Amino acid sequence: MKIIAAYPTIEQAYLAAARLGSAGIRADIRDEAIATLNWLYSSAIGGVKLAVGEADVADAEEILREPAQEEGILVCPHCGSRDVTVRTLSAAGGVLIVLNIPLPLAFQTADCRGCGKSHGISAHPNLE
Ligand SMILES: [Zn+2]
Repeated sequence: MKIIAAYPTIEQAYLAAARLGSAGIRADIRDEAIATLNWLYSSAIGGVKLAVGEADVADAEEILREPAQEEGILVCPHCGSRDVTVRTLSAAGGVLIVLNIPLPLAFQTADCRGCGKSHGISAHPNLE
């Protein structure tokens, strides 16, 4: 794992991790316990750090360079379009598209209107 970013608050670190997670990149949050203890310590150690696997560094840095998205707005990982709609897949609906991802309880998929591709969004990106 390599640390690619640091944030002054845990919330920002989690938001960044979620953005990476929605693009299929697993991110670890470091120094969270210390930051929880005291935000002053967090400043002293350089913030809450975000780490990703070596193979994901370039992709993750590119994603994080994008301006922060408003909540609920997603970027297509295939073409970068923001014209993405989200739908929740339910067993009752009978339409389950599994993208090599174990199906979590709340599973959503995003449909890109730019390129027509879909990608899954896990509500628990750090669980495998
Ligand atoms: Zn797309």
